[in-house]
Amino acid sequence: MTSNASLHERRMAAVPRGVANATSIYAGRAENAELWDVEGRRYIDFAGGIAVLNIGHRHPKVMAAADAQAGRFTHTSFQVVPYEPYVALAERLNALAPGDFAKKTVFFTSGAEAIENAVKIARAATGRPGVIAFTGGYHGRTLLTLGLTGKVSPYKQKFGPFPTDIFRAPFPNALHGISVEDALAALDLLFRTDADPERIAAMVIEPVQGEGGYYIAPFEFLQELRRICDARGTLLIADEIQSGFARTGKWFAIEHSGVVPDLIAVAKSLAGGFPLSGVVGRAEVMDVVPPGGLGGTYAGNPVACAAAMAAVQAIEEEGLLERSLEIGARIVARLQEIAASNWLPYISEVRGLGAMVSFELVKDRSTGAPNPELTVALTRKAADNGLILLSCGLYGNVVRIMVPITASDAIVDEGLDIIERSLREIVDGA
Ligand code: PMP
Repeated sequence: MTSNASLHERRMAAVPRGVANATSIYAGRAENAELWDVEGRRYIDFAGGIAVLNIGHRHPKVMAAADAQAGRFTHTSFQVVPYEPYVALAERLNALAPGDFAKKTVFFTSGAEAIENAVKIARAATGRPGVIAFTGGYHGRTLLTLGLTGKVSPYKQKFGPFPTDIFRAPFPNALHGISVEDALAALDLLFRTDADPERIAAMVIEPVQGEGGYYIAPFEFLQELRRICDARGTLLIADEIQSGFARTGKWFAIEHSGVVPDLIAVAKSLAGGFPLSGVVGRAEVMDVVPPGGLGGTYAGNPVACAAAMAAVQAIEEEGLLERSLEIGARIVARLQEIAASNWLPYISEVRGLGAMVSFELVKDRSTGAPNPELTVALTRKAADNGLILLSCGLYGNVVRIMVPITASDAIVDEGLDIIERSLREIVDGA
């Protein structure tokens, strides 16, 4: 039998250490919210391959659509011989995205590529170079997106210099001492000191930060950004790569705020486990780029587009927006119960928008000092106990839950039981 250990030895010899592994188990097979490693051990999956599996591993509708498409053709390059799955998915996303105006959609492969292209489109449409991004934001690992990403370790170390004309403003985070007023005052200062408002093409923001710590952008902050962008001829780009497609109980997290962005970057759960990303936006903005300015050999792969159509259909047909709210409330309630228990004075906050739920671990509640050590210990102990769990956060002390929304209550509860048991074992020194 192939063992995790033998695969790990081969991996260490063949793959650079710069690609970190959150676990040392090797995937054998997976189904909905469960995964079995190559040794046959079962895990509950609260990571979903980093927020890609809102509708679970191998959703039957996604698999059927991908199989059917693979039986017809797997690649032509949309720029060479176009195909219906790309067009149909663009039509679908144009209709789903917020905004009572004509929209167009272009597809790529990774999330970073979607963000890069959203910035390219915004620059072309405004004739301006500048981009404002936010502290703690995560937008990808390519050089432009690393420039936008507002977290040094581990993403940016050793990789500079980064592209110019990127400015950073504070993301409001009340728990860590930055109110909405503080963040807006800092933005105003940025416009006075560094960033000429006449030269800013776009602001890029995650309505709920992902890697940065599952911090929810206050709705009044998003509304104020919209007002500032409108007043200054700047485009608002929502990075919905982690927060989109039912994670928060809506198609797009920004819908909770009522704000309508000009461009939306999508990826991850868009295609139910296949690599696909895109930019959805105002038709007149999207059409500014002349033919040949956008694209990519694999961009909008037909199998991935067919899978995405089925994923969108599954969210609709199975009532997963509603289920996201229900599952989120269930997880938050249970985590709050754990946070309130006497034996565990280390959870400072449980927060969630729909099923985009997290909790923050601290050294003690009175100071709120982040506890990244306990966070690492918990994700490791959880894996030992059969749960794949990921952390995040500017301070490395947030545990995020990305369980498939298609998971049963029983599976969700089993995963939460493992979190509680793992915390108890750490506290007891077991
Ligand atoms: N934006 C956000 C909000 C993300 O969470 C991620 C991935 N974690 C990206 C962009 C980059 O996506 P990818 O890794 O597919 O390039």
